[in-house]
This record gives sequence, C-alpha cells and structure tokens, in this order.
Amino acid sequence: MADSLKETTVPTSGGHGEIKEFDAIIIGSGVTGLYSLYRMRQLGFSVRAFDDASGVGGTWYWNRYPGCRFDSESYSYGYSFSEELLQEWDWKEHYSAQPETERYLNYVADKFDLRRDIQFNSRVVSATYNEVGSFWEICLADGSRSHGRFLITSVGSFSAGYVPDFEGIDSFRGTSCHTRAWPKEGVDLAGKRVGVIGTGATGVQLITEIAKEVAHLTVFQRTANYCAPLRNGLIDAETQKQIKASYPEIFRVCMETPGSFMHEPDKRSAMDVSQEERLEQYERLWTEPGFKKWLSNFYDVMVPGKANEDYAEFVRNKIRERVHDPVVAEMLVPKDHMFGSKRLPCESGYYEVYNQDNVLLVDVREAPIERITPNGIKTRDEEYELDVIIYATGFDAITGGLINLNITGQNGVRLKDKFADGPRTYMGITSAGFPNLFTVNAASVGNFVRAAESLIDWVGETMSYLRDNDFKRIAPTVEAEDAWVKHVNEDGANILRTQANSWFVGANIPGKARALLTSPDTAPAMRAKRAEVAANGYEGFILE
Ligand code: NAP
Repeated sequence: MADSLKETTVPTSGGHGEIKEFDAIIIGSGVTGLYSLYRMRQLGFSVRAFDDASGVGGTWYWNRYPGCRFDSESYSYGYSFSEELLQEWDWKEHYSAQPETERYLNYVADKFDLRRDIQFNSRVVSATYNEVGSFWEICLADGSRSHGRFLITSVGSFSAGYVPDFEGIDSFRGTSCHTRAWPKEGVDLAGKRVGVIGTGATGVQLITEIAKEVAHLTVFQRTANYCAPLRNGLIDAETQKQIKASYPEIFRVCMETPGSFMHEPDKRSAMDVSQEERLEQYERLWTEPGFKKWLSNFYDVMVPGKANEDYAEFVRNKIRERVHDPVVAEMLVPKDHMFGSKRLPCESGYYEVYNQDNVLLVDVREAPIERITPNGIKTRDEEYELDVIIYATGFDAITGGLINLNITGQNGVRLKDKFADGPRTYMGITSAGFPNLFTVNAASVGNFVRAAESLIDWVGETMSYLRDNDFKRIAPTVEAEDAWVKHVNEDGANILRTQANSWFVGANIPGKARALLTSPDTAPAMRAKRAEVAANGYEGFILE
C-alpha cells in the first residue's frame, strides 16, 4: 500500500459533510479495540476507533451491574505489551470487579494517549466495501462517514444484549433493565421487590450481590447451572510484589494452555486413578480459587464421557450440601447438560442466597413465563408482583455484534445473509468476499486479552505485509473458507461446547442457526495455524 492513506479529509458530494480517511477503522474501544488502536498506530497506520459508548471499556463499560467481575485472575487478564504498565498497575483483587477493570482500561487509554484517536458516542450503523476504491465506508448514526483501507471489528463477543420477546414487555409499570445496559447512576433496589430472569454467569453474580439489599427477590430459572466457588481475595503487598516478578511466567503458562488461562491441565485420566485419588483431587481443587478446579482437573473432565459425568456428580453434591431446602436444592442441581458444556459461572455465596427467607426460586421450564404484566411477571401458574425486573438473559453472542454493524462486502453481499446458517470465516477472523475485514471479536476465545493480543499482532503483521508489498487487499479463497467451516463443524461436533443449548452454538437465540461460533481449536493451535498461514505467503488468501 504505497499510497498509504494517512489521515486526510476530502470534501464529499453527498451532502453529509466531510469524509475522514484512515488506513484502518476500528469499531469498539474495549480490550481488543484499545490494543488494536495501540498496535496499528505503533506500526505506522493512521487509525480511528469508533464506539457508541461515552468511554472506553466495551464489555467493562456496559456491564456495570452489581456483582460484575472477572472469572480469570486479574493479572492474567491485563495487557502484556508494556512492562512499564505491568509494573505500574496494582490489581486490588485476585478477581477484579467491573469498576476496577473499567479504571484499568481508562488508565491504559490515558497512558498510551489512545483517546485522541477514539470517537465516542458514535454508533456505526453500516460498513460497506467500496470495490472501486478498495476501502470500507462506515456510516455513523448521525450520517457522518469515514473510509478505511482496513476494518477491524473489535465489538466483543457479548455486545448485542438479548431480551426475550415476552408478550406485554412494555406494559410493566415498574423499572426494568438488562444487565448489559446497567445505568451508570445505578438502579435503586433497596427495599424493592425484584425479579431476575436468567441464571447464567451474569445472573449468578447479580443475584448474589443484590440479595443483600432487596426486600424480596424472585429468581426465574429455566436451566440450572453448574457453579463453582470463586474464592476471591484482596492482593496484599507481598503477593503484589510476587505477581509483578512473575509476569513472564504467568504469560508463559497462559500461552501454553488451551484457553489462555493460567491453569495447566492434568494430563492424567480421571478413570486411570483410584476412586480415592480421584476424589482427593476433586476436593483439593475445589478449595482453590477460580477456574483451577475446572481447567487443572484430569484432562478427560473436559471432554464428554465418563470422567465428565463423574465430576458433574461431584459438583451436584457440592450444590446439594449448601442449600437447606432439599426441594430447592434439587431445582438448582443441573441434570440436563454436561459439566463444562456451558462456561462455568464462578460464585461467592450464590447458593446460600436460596437459604434466605426473602428469596424465591421459580422454575420457568416447568411453568414458563407467559407474559409481562403491568404489575410483574405472569408464569403459567402464577403472577409475581414486582417493582423491578432485571433481564440477565444474555447475548446474541459473537455474531450478533457483527451482524448489527450491517456489513456489506463485494457484490452487495451482506454478512448477515452470508452467516444465516452460521459463521462462514477462515480462521474466525476473515471471510471470503469481505476484503481487509478482520473480525477480531469472532476469533478471540478463552481468556480474551491473552487471545486478543496475539490475534491483533497477527492482523498488524498482515496489514504491514500488504503495505510493504504493495498489495491493496486480502481476503480468503472460497475453498479455504469452506475447508475451515467444515473443520469447525466436524471437529467441533464432539467437544463439550457443542453439547448444550448455549450461546456457544447460538442456541440461546430463537431462530439463530445452531453452529459453533468459536474455533474448536486450542489457543496455541490457533496461533500456530495463523503463523503457518503467514509463513506460507498467506496460504488460503487472495492478495491483490
Ligand atoms: P447466558 O449464559 O446466555 O445466560 C442467560 C440466562 O437467561 C440463562 O439462564 C437462560 O436460560 C436465561 N434465559 C434466556 N431466555 C430466557 C427466557 N425466555 N426465559 C427464561 N430464561 C431465559 O448469558 P450471561 O449469563 O450473560 O453470560 C454470557 C457469557 O458472558 C458467559 O457464558 C461468560 O462467558 C460471560 N460472562 C462472564 C462473566 C465473568 O465472570 N467474567 C460474567 C458474566 C458473563 P437457559 O440457560 O435456559 O437458556
């Protein structure tokens, strides 16, 4: 790209004011957007990020519901690109809460002077590829437009919130809100009758926190989840020093594990050791913080089969031990999906909430929600009067945020139509007929920051390769994409993530095609694949 588009302003004929031109346009300023901006700028590209929020943070900007916090260790989630940043920033808790994470991302934005290239309060309503000029034109809600040779969608996996289409939803006279759009000023819940729909990772965190202040809480649960104790704690000065000295080791471990977490799996099979040894390990790991009890367990706990079911029963019994009323306990025990087939919610006192006199658990699989009424929620069996309804009903994950951008590629093909039967990508990050589009939000899995840094580095190297070799555009071949989609579907068919009705396969959204939305590969395998593709002259891509 010899005619590298440095930021310029050209007059338009369309009457929408001036069009700004950049080498790269980034959509989103969350963890991946901020790093994309930093990296592309460092590589000498002119760049502009657009975000519909009024500040940085993405997921950590929007999801400010009570109880929102990490399930990965704070120090494994932070950026690794700057030693100075690593040494300056003190994580307060092992699993940081949303306010601290938002503060961290603001600190990063300030430290690296990222804000000057971010346009806030700017919702992208369309992104269209211009074949003649070889650029992407994005249009904002206010009608203004910008052009970028490259388009990087850093819109996160969980940016499109999902609210079920309940009848009468607008008739409710009280306050209602979705966890994803929690108001900055908070919601007054003290002394109120509150209903929560949804018991995924979000619902579990929220319910635990608000049960401390509401007058009465009614939880509408469709599917019980396996949840495990987070065992969070403050980081004392000595531990802080140790963490700062151990960053190379922390990141080394993260780079080698399947999901980029700092928990190495046990290579033994649960079925190859005695029952006594197996139980000893289960119990020991149960006392450990975070995902260790999940990811550092016997390797076959993480695949469908006997070991998985053995551990699932162990977890079910842990739930039963904590809930006083045996009928309520059984309602909270998951029996219809495998352990780990949904992301494991980590909790801090969730099950004890159901021992409170002012908390009621309603099974809406047995008696579904029929409608929202002016006074509350009506299930098949009963109407529950409420002052506040909280929708912890999840997201149109990964592809929802992309589809909402109204992306149109070559020959007028819309990404929405192309993805109608599931994502059609090459390596999760590119799609045939959509040149120079990098869907980084669709390709990060596991511990997002760890995965995203290497992914964005690859995007930067690819863009530099094009620039240095006078190529204008890159897009995968249809053959490479077909082979990738086949790989995702075939190799994904037997992994845990495709065994439940969850967002992993789009099954939480009525009408969404069932397909694995992430790669079935481990993070190291994905990195190796990308490196190999680049080393082979961008095998599977057309460069023009
Ligand atoms: P989710 O896992 O999709 O859970 C949504 C909940 O809403 C489920 O319990 C679902 O029930 C329920 N629901 C949806 N439609 C319903 C309906 N019509 N009637 C009744 N219930 C309904 O969403 P999420 O909890 O927001 O979590 C999404 C992902 O975000 C997580 O898996 C995780 O990766 C991430 N997350 C991470 C953290 C963290 O600790 N860092 C915290 C929150 C979220 P069914 O299960 O029956 O569909």
